Amino acid sequence: MNICRTVEELNSAIESVKLQHKTIGLVPTMGALHDGHKSLFIRARKENDVFVSSVFVNPIQFNNKEDFEKYPRDEQKDLAVLEECGCDIAFVPKAEDVYQQEPKEFHFGKLEEVMEGKQRPGHFSGVANIVSRLFLWTKADRAYFGEKDYQQIAIIKDMIRQENINIEIVPCPIYRDEDGLATSSRNQRLSKEARLIAPKIHQILEKSFLQKDSLSFNQITRFVEDEFAKVKEFQLEYFIIVDDTTLQPIHTRENNQGVVGCVAVWLDGVRLIDIQRYY
Ligand code: AMP
Repeated sequence: MNICRTVEELNSAIESVKLQHKTIGLVPTMGALHDGHKSLFIRARKENDVFVSSVFVNPIQFNNKEDFEKYPRDEQKDLAVLEECGCDIAFVPKAEDVYQQEPKEFHFGKLEEVMEGKQRPGHFSGVANIVSRLFLWTKADRAYFGEKDYQQIAIIKDMIRQENINIEIVPCPIYRDEDGLATSSRNQRLSKEARLIAPKIHQILEKSFLQKDSLSFNQITRFVEDEFAKVKEFQLEYFIIVDDTTLQPIHTRENNQGVVGCVAVWLDGVRLIDIQRYY
């Protein structure tokens, strides 16, 4: 595995791959790698000649300083995981190098007026800055993203349209621990007790799915809010049912419309997100 610590090193590694006309698959990450990341690595490894991954805790996408500082970091372990997953090029840059050119401000209109965009001002502009740079530097043919960060995928698709970047975005299903909790780097910050409560997030959403034919979306929303309120350790930030492409809130289903419920909830000082499809 070629470990590149600067953009210059990455450029020269990519140049030699491109000279051989090989396809490149990219998985951007912020490290603290877990089995959810691995599920993306496995696909990128299988579907491309060359598998590139980045580990970079992107400061400008955190709107909360404490969250950035507390974000788990373990570079040696991450590099070992990448190596084990057959990574060819690991890009582990420093912020000074990534942001030699000042970040620009991205706008995503209605797409960012809901959920994470609404709750975390500036977050998606920060994400778009790092991801657009990674796409240009790695010259990847495909990039893999997890559906846990559901809104992020829509934002990135819009970003490549705005920036005219030719790359295939590959959405990947949420990977869950055996008890149903979506794996996340933030899970390791949960206390033992909180970790036992966390799977209720997926359980509540699954229960709500079973009601989809008998309840309206407004009633499902109330049901989910009530279920979260019953567990005193949870503080629900939002639960919202949206069209799976436009991400706009919906109240009744049109024919064949894809519908997804998105949740953000605090538990033990940790903010967790998850989704549930209703089709
Ligand atoms: P992060 O390191 O948290 O920025 O995540 C890097 C990528 O891994 C993003 O595309 C995430 O959506 C994806 N990812 C994180 N957790 C999971 C999971 N449990 N299942 C699937 N993809 C995930």
